[in-house]
Amino acid sequence: HFNFCSGPAMLPTAVLERAQQEMLDYQGKGLSVMEMSHRSSDFMAIAERAEADLRELLAVPDNYSVLFMQGGATMQFAGVPLNLLGNGGTGNYLDTGIWSQKAIREAEHLDSAHVVASASDNRYTAAPAPADLSLSDDAAYLHYCENETIGGLQMDYVPDTGVPLVCDMSSSILSKPIDITRYGVIYAGAQKNIGPAGIVIVIVRNDLLERARRETPTLLKWKAFADNGSMLNTPATYAWYLSGLVFDWLKGQGGVEAMARINARKAAKLYEAIDASGFYGNPIAPANRSQMNIPFMLADEALNPVFLNEAEEAGLLNLKGHRSVGGMRASIYNAMPEAGVDRLIEFMRDFEQRHG
Ligand code: PLP
Repeated sequence: HFNFCSGPAMLPTAVLERAQQEMLDYQGKGLSVMEMSHRSSDFMAIAERAEADLRELLAVPDNYSVLFMQGGATMQFAGVPLNLLGNGGTGNYLDTGIWSQKAIREAEHLDSAHVVASASDNRYTAAPAPADLSLSDDAAYLHYCENETIGGLQMDYVPDTGVPLVCDMSSSILSKPIDITRYGVIYAGAQKNIGPAGIVIVIVRNDLLERARRETPTLLKWKAFADNGSMLNTPATYAWYLSGLVFDWLKGQGGVEAMARINARKAAKLYEAIDASGFYGNPIAPANRSQMNIPFMLADEALNPVFLNEAEEAGLLNLKGHRSVGGMRASIYNAMPEAGVDRLIEFMRDFEQRHG
């Protein structure tokens, strides 16, 4: 079976097998990682190793902190303005879809959201051009979503505006190399390209840790997490451990450079299959087509339930599109093997022949 769920998403089989082997008795210690004190030397070693591997995979410079927090990426929608607007200024936001808008709404709660440009002008089929981003004079940061998981719109450039750049990378982190130094803050919920649900990773440049608003709850304060090794309270220990297994697996696969090559190939062949006839369609401008979440519509919507039923029978799971978009969506994160995409394409061709 191949699981095309957008999140929680498929995990590498090798990771699940290793977790199964170690679940009852972690490396002969006589207990499960789930049962360990987060302050025990065994768990501290697991936690530190995970952070070190993530730093290595993404080449995170020393002047950035890597935080393992909870509350998902959604909590960081509030965490971003709370942590960055303590010295005044306005949160600036690029709107490329539903997740961008959710982030904007949280800044609006603090009366501090300025939208620099919106893809609503083209019904969210293309990213606004760099020249069209109009920042407010008092911009404290610019926030954007690298890959809109629902709409399937991925940015084709990194905005360069002179203010700290804050990026929601929930559905694209670790899918390709990134230049961390371009960013002030990167955050990502784990349950797509990292591990199981329960953790959100925050990577923040250390000079930005001093800008929190006074009312920021301790459990949202990046500086408090940075100062305490993300162990301010009990962290999501098992999710942290599993994320570490995924990082280790990724290193064995050749890291993010190798993943980027495979991901580009997987996405290219799936888009090619979608474009091959009028039977399927994807509305996103070619430069902004997501490499991770690929929505596609059937020209004849009446066939949607038939497609989904037959796909499931063929072992292709969770292809139903988000309710706001309709149609289908194939999420093909790092853990989706190329063979899964090949199987989907074969199924799509066969389905078209029988129903086209
Ligand atoms: N941002 C993006 C781009 C997402 O795809 C998601 C997905 O759920 C979220 C934020 C919200 O993440 P969470 O459910 O971890 O709060």
